[in-house]
Parts: sequence; structure tokens; C-alpha cells
Amino acid sequence: MRTSFVAGNWKLNGNQASISALVANINAGLESLNQTTVAVCAPCVYVPLVHTLTQNSTLKLGAQNVSNYETGAYTGEVSAPMLKEFGCEYVIIGHSERRALFGESDEICAQKFVRAQQAGLTPIFCVGETLTEREANQTEAVISRQLQALLAIIDVQDLVNSVVAYEPIWAIGTGKTATPEQAQAVHAYIRQMIANLNKSVAEKLQILYGGSVKGSNAAKLFAMPDIDGGLIGGAALNADEFLTICRAGNKA
Ligand code: PEP
Repeated sequence: MRTSFVAGNWKLNGNQASISALVANINAGLESLNQTTVAVCAPCVYVPLVHTLTQNSTLKLGAQNVSNYETGAYTGEVSAPMLKEFGCEYVIIGHSERRALFGESDEICAQKFVRAQQAGLTPIFCVGETLTEREANQTEAVISRQLQALLAIIDVQDLVNSVVAYEPIWAIGTGKTATPEQAQAVHAYIRQMIANLNKSVAEKLQILYGGSVKGSNAAKLFAMPDIDGGLIGGAALNADEFLTICRAGNKA
């Protein structure tokens, strides 16, 4: 039986004051939630702050990106052991914004996954298709390509200590959410792809949906059999909205 997981992706938003207030409000609302794991993925420089603010809370901490290198002459990079040292448990890898805007290839995303796990972080590995790809019936081919690049360099068993997030790019930040049926179809495809390699890993793997999840649509999405929670962007910046989504995870 898989538990549910809701992770907020704050992206490039916030400052010390707004983040402190947001975390305080989330902490207060989390007390009544015991069946869902909840995490927030902060901008890198605020990781120590959020770590301090979550000391007495069940709220988990994640980062939004990690280097595919561990150490050396890589100006501007932040390594997985650095994130771990400052209290991160999770890291988002392969978000479509990183893939599209910062040129991260399937291979680089796969390397990042390995680096994260080596440091004891749980990767939240994002996959998803563009609207053009969906309209050309390429959704499964794209997801398969993204996951195959990962499976080429990890053991399928390593997926147990990771989370996969299906994020159709056309639904991210657009207000256009995939229907529960559309999302479920892709989640089932991902689970079947993994089951073909190892049934028990597939049954344990948490697969999140991301793309314009809100308090008003989360419950229906999370009620689908292969949707184990969500990766939340815009709605994670508002404590009430985010907590409504977390409560939907708690019931699913
Ligand atoms: C995201 O950035 O991962 C995301 C799902 O964003 P939004 O919820 O704003 O669509």
C-alpha cells in the first residue's frame, strides 16, 4: 500500500519574510495531517532557513535542483552532499523548466538522480510531454525515452528510494490541468513500464501528478488509483491552498 506525498515547488519566489510566514502557516496546518508526507522545495539559499523553521514539524525539506557533479571547478553549482548537509531530504530533478530553459538533457537528469541518491537524497524525478508531443500522440514515447535514459544507468530497484512526477508541460503554470483520466492513463503507463522490469518496485513507486493542481481539483486527481499525490507549483505559495491540497492527499 503506497502512502501519499505532496511536494511544493516554490521555484524562484520568496524572500526571508515571506518564506518564514509561509512555513509557519504550513506547519500550523500540518498538525492534523498524518497520512500524507508533505515537503517544500525551496530556492537553494533559503534551504538553511527552512531547515531551521521545520525542526519541530513534520514538514520535509527539498531543493529544486542539484549538480550532476560532486566537487570541483563547476562555478555556480550546488552538489548533493551540500544539500544533504543543510537538511534536504528531497531534490527535484528534471523539471521541465530545467530541461527546456537550462538545456538539461535526459542523460544529465539521469546523472543528477544518481548523485542525489549517492548523497542520501530522494530524487523527485520529473517527466512529461509538451502539447505538440501530446497532439502528435507522442506522450508515451516521450515518457519512455526520459525514463529509459534513467534506467540505463540505475538499477530498477533504485526507484524504490525515489519519486516520479508526471508533469505534462502544457499543464504547468497554465491553469490547464490534465483531467484525472488523462493523468491516470499516463501514470498507469509509467507503472506498467516499471512493472515490466520489476513488479514489486512498480507497486511501491510513488508517482505524483503535477500541473496546475489546486485545492479545487486535487481530490479528484489524487483519488485515481495510480496517482499518489502531487508536485505543486503556484498553489504551493499560498499556505491555505497548499494545505487544502495536502488534505486531499490525506484522504485519498
Ligand atoms: C511545477 O512547477 O512543478 C508545477 C506543477 O507548477 P504549477 O502547479 O504552477 O502548474
